[in-house]
Amino acid sequence: MSRFTLCPDRWYAMELFGPEFDTEVRHYSPILATSLSAPGKGSRCFDLSFFHAAYPEGVQDKVYTIQTIERSNHFLLGKVVGTSRLVLLMELSDQWLSRHFDKQALSYLRSLQIDSAPDPVDRYTACLLGGAIGDALGGAVEFISRSAILDRFGPDGIKDYSDAYGGKGKITDDTQMTLFTAEGLLRGRMRGVSKGITAYDHTVAAAYLRWLATQGHENRHVETILDGWLFKQRELHSQRAPGTTCLSALADYEGEPGIAHNDSKGCGGVMRVAPVGLFCWTFKEDWGITEVFDFGVMCAAITHGHPSGYLSGGVLASLIFLILDGAQVGDALNEASSILVKYPGHEETLDALNQAKKLSDSELRHHEAIKELGEGWVAEEALAIAVYCVLVAESFEQGVILAVNHDGDSDSTGAIAGNILGALHGTRVIPGRWLESLELREVIEAVASDLWSCRNWSSYMDDERQWDRYPGY
Ligand SMILES: [Mg+2]
Repeated sequence: MSRFTLCPDRWYAMELFGPEFDTEVRHYSPILATSLSAPGKGSRCFDLSFFHAAYPEGVQDKVYTIQTIERSNHFLLGKVVGTSRLVLLMELSDQWLSRHFDKQALSYLRSLQIDSAPDPVDRYTACLLGGAIGDALGGAVEFISRSAILDRFGPDGIKDYSDAYGGKGKITDDTQMTLFTAEGLLRGRMRGVSKGITAYDHTVAAAYLRWLATQGHENRHVETILDGWLFKQRELHSQRAPGTTCLSALADYEGEPGIAHNDSKGCGGVMRVAPVGLFCWTFKEDWGITEVFDFGVMCAAITHGHPSGYLSGGVLASLIFLILDGAQVGDALNEASSILVKYPGHEETLDALNQAKKLSDSELRHHEAIKELGEGWVAEEALAIAVYCVLVAESFEQGVILAVNHDGDSDSTGAIAGNILGALHGTRVIPGRWLESLELREVIEAVASDLWSCRNWSSYMDDERQWDRYPGY
C-alpha cells in the first residue's frame, strides 16, 4: 500500500475539527503546502507551512505543527500541536472541491493551481545531491554508535555536517562510486551514438577501474584508461574509507563483467547505483522495468557476488526509475519486489524490504525500528533502513537525519535515503545549509544534468568536446 505523504508545492484538501468551530465557521480549505520541516518535538511531528486559500485573498505562511495520528494511502489525520484541533489532510480531488466551493471560488482556485511538478533535471540533480548530502552527513558518524552520536551531538543526533576527512560536508566513497557509475553509463551512451553499438557492462566496469586508480590501487589484468572529465577532478582522488570488497574485486577484475567471484553482500554495490534509475528514465521508451532492474544488478554485481549484494542494486535502480515515473514509494516498492522474487537468492532482500514496510506502519520509535532492521553494513539492511526512513519521513530533512543516526553504516544508509527522497521531491526540499558546504556540488550537478541531456547527444564527429568529456569506451 502506498502511504500518503505531503510534498511541498502541492495542493491538498484540509479539514479542521475543533470544539471552537460552530456550523457557521468555514473550517475546510484547499491549502498549498509550501514547506515541511523536521520535527524535534517527537517522532511523529512535523511543521507544515502552507498557503491557506479559504480566505478571499488567501493567507500566506500559516504554520502548523502537526502530530500524525493516522496515515493511510489517501489521508493523514493529525493533531495540531498546542491546540485542541484535529486536522485531516487529503489529496485535493475535483469531487472534494465541487462539494465545498461554488463556481466562482473554483475558478479562482484553478487559476492558482499551476502544474508544479519538478522538472526531470531538477529531480535528477536532487537525487544525486540528496545522496551526497546523506553520505556527507553520515560520513562523520559512520564508525560510531548511536549512543556515542547522541553524546556528541545532543538528543536529536547529528543534524549538520561535522568534521570528517579534513572538513565539513566531505563526501565519501559512496558518492565517489555513484559518480563513476554515472560516468560509465554516459561513456556507454557516447559509444552507442558514435559507434552504433555499446556495452554498458564494460564501460561501467572501466569507470570503476578509474575510481580504483583514484584510490591509489591498480588492476594488473587489464589496462585502465585514465581519461575523461571526471577522473580529472582532483578532489575525487582521496581515500574516504573505501569498501574493501570494492577495492579487492576491482583489483582482481579480469576484463569480463559478470558476477564477481566473491560471496560479499556488503552495501558497496547498492549504494552506488542510483544513476542507473536516472539514466534508464532518460530513455524510458526503451527500457522495461525488468531491464532496469537487471541493469542495477549488473552494476552492483561487478564487485559483489552474493545475491543480496547485487539484487539490492536492482531494487534501488528500479525504485528510482518508478518514482521518476510518478509512482508513490509504496507502489514502487511493490513493483520492485514483484520483480525481485523472480531471482534466485532473493529471500533476504525481500524479507528486509517487507520488514521495513511493516515497521513503517508500526508505533515503534524510529530508532528502535531501525535497530530491528540491522546496521546497514550489508546490502539488504542498508536498503531496508533507507526505505524505512523514506516511508516514515515527513520531509527530506527528517528522512536523511533518521537515516544517519544509528549504530551502523550511516553514510551508506544516508546516501541511499537521500537518493530516493531527492528523486521524489526535487531540489526545493533540500535545506540550503546542507547544499552550501557540500563538497563537489558543481560536479554532482553537472553529472546529473548530463544524465538527462545525454538523450540529445550525437556522434563525436559532431561534438568533440562532449567526446573528450566522456570518451566512448
Ligand atoms: Mg562511505
